[in-house]
Amino acid sequence: MHDLVIVGAGPYGLSIAAHAAARGLDTRVFGRPMDSWRNHMPRGMFLKSEPWASNLSAPGRRFRLDQYCAHRGVPAEHGHPIPVDTFASYGLWFAQHAVPEPDERMITRIDAAPVGFTLETEDGQVLRSRSVALATGVLPYLHIPEALRALTEEHVTHSSRHSDLDRFRGADVTVVGAGQAALETAALLAELQARVRIVARAPELVWNSVPPPWKRPWWQRLRAPHSGLGCGWRNWFYAERPGAFRRLPERTRAAVTQTALGPAGAWWIRDRVAAGAIDIRMGRTVVEARQSAGRVRLRTVGSSGAAEDFETDHVIAATGFEASCARMSVLTPRLRSVLARSAGETPRVGRDFRSSYPGLFLAGLVTAADFGPAMRFVQGASYTAPALVGGVERHLTRQPWRGGPAVPPGRQPAPEGPIGVTSRANG
Ligand SMILES: Cc1cc2nc3c(=O)[nH]c(=O)nc-3n(C[C@H](O)[C@H](O)[C@H](O)COP(=O)(O)OP(=O)(O)OC[C@H]3O[C@@H](n4cnc5c(N)ncnc54)[C@H](O)[C@@H]3O)c2cc1C
Repeated sequence: MHDLVIVGAGPYGLSIAAHAAARGLDTRVFGRPMDSWRNHMPRGMFLKSEPWASNLSAPGRRFRLDQYCAHRGVPAEHGHPIPVDTFASYGLWFAQHAVPEPDERMITRIDAAPVGFTLETEDGQVLRSRSVALATGVLPYLHIPEALRALTEEHVTHSSRHSDLDRFRGADVTVVGAGQAALETAALLAELQARVRIVARAPELVWNSVPPPWKRPWWQRLRAPHSGLGCGWRNWFYAERPGAFRRLPERTRAAVTQTALGPAGAWWIRDRVAAGAIDIRMGRTVVEARQSAGRVRLRTVGSSGAAEDFETDHVIAATGFEASCARMSVLTPRLRSVLARSAGETPRVGRDFRSSYPGLFLAGLVTAADFGPAMRFVQGASYTAPALVGGVERHLTRQPWRGGPAVPPGRQPAPEGPIGVTSRANG
């Protein structure tokens, strides 16, 4: 029986593992290290976050990105974007040095047991742990607009499906979305001589401004401090005070979750988008898509209601990720059903990232409704990892395993049965 099993070896899972190992917990980490960054982002991509805001977290501020880059003789400077493969290699280096060796198998099933949890690996091994940290990142939650869902993978894919865009060389590709993933995918496609079109609901493209220099007069720093989520006090609050964000009224948090740091292109991609002769159609929603003679026929509608039809070879939905309890499919339905959730159907978490089910801890995107926008970025791992591991330690001390049930009888999920027979816990 392990103290802690961490599911997911991305920036959050690895950071939690580094803190747990340093606290002497019997920890195991599952998943292919940095898989999202190695296999689900296009080669040639750069990070939008500044190098100093892209650190994985280990006790004593060790194993930082700038230390890795110094070893390799690669620059990691403010205002200079980091290539995705440098960041992925940094994550692998971190995994080698700061973390007990990850087990690359995927976890396929997590269920509550009378004591702790049972977890099943993709090849059928069953393990037991007194606590679980679910750090499965963004991939379980990818979002494709309703109108595109009837198309097959040959004709529509989510942007995270492509680490290599080469197959689209010379093709006609429509990218749906207006965020960084959409704009960078479009720029990379144009550089491959694809004919590229961007379709987005937003009335116009939004661009982040060039960050001010790191060293500035004190009054400029006071007026608009740097933060890992951009300049200014509002961003500083989201980046530096996730714990205070959690204490804001639920309605305020929900409004911020929906609006803060919305789709925008990095300053350094703007010229590449302009140079790509990309056909940009803003203020349009895709309302219908069907296959037609090996191509896709799309219908979009503008704000005036005017429809427009056109054909394309392939649609890439760069339409982001939507976390919800329903999509946490690695948890058994009965375990999912007892999780307290917010109005947006994401699971609620306490101050140390515990879910409403004892011993189950959550990290990353699924916690953004409680801890704010930082949880959508690597930046949030530095707050999450020590707080979550503190919570695991408290859980283990409060409920030492003496051979009896660790979960109070009222909090046990009902036996496996039809969905709906279990009740929902309220925290
Ligand atoms: C195109 C793009 C660009 C981005 N650029 C930036 C950026 O510049 N800066 C930034 O801070 N953020 C950026 N992000 C957001 C970024 O994805 C998150 O900040 C970061 O990856 C979150 O780390 P994570 O560990 O939660 O998730 P992930 O990095 O997604 O890691 C989760 C890991 O869990 C694994 N996993 C999932 N399910 C299981 C399972 N059942 N068993 C075992 N393992 C499992 C996955 O394979 C994955 O490796 C970007 C996102 C996208 C899509």
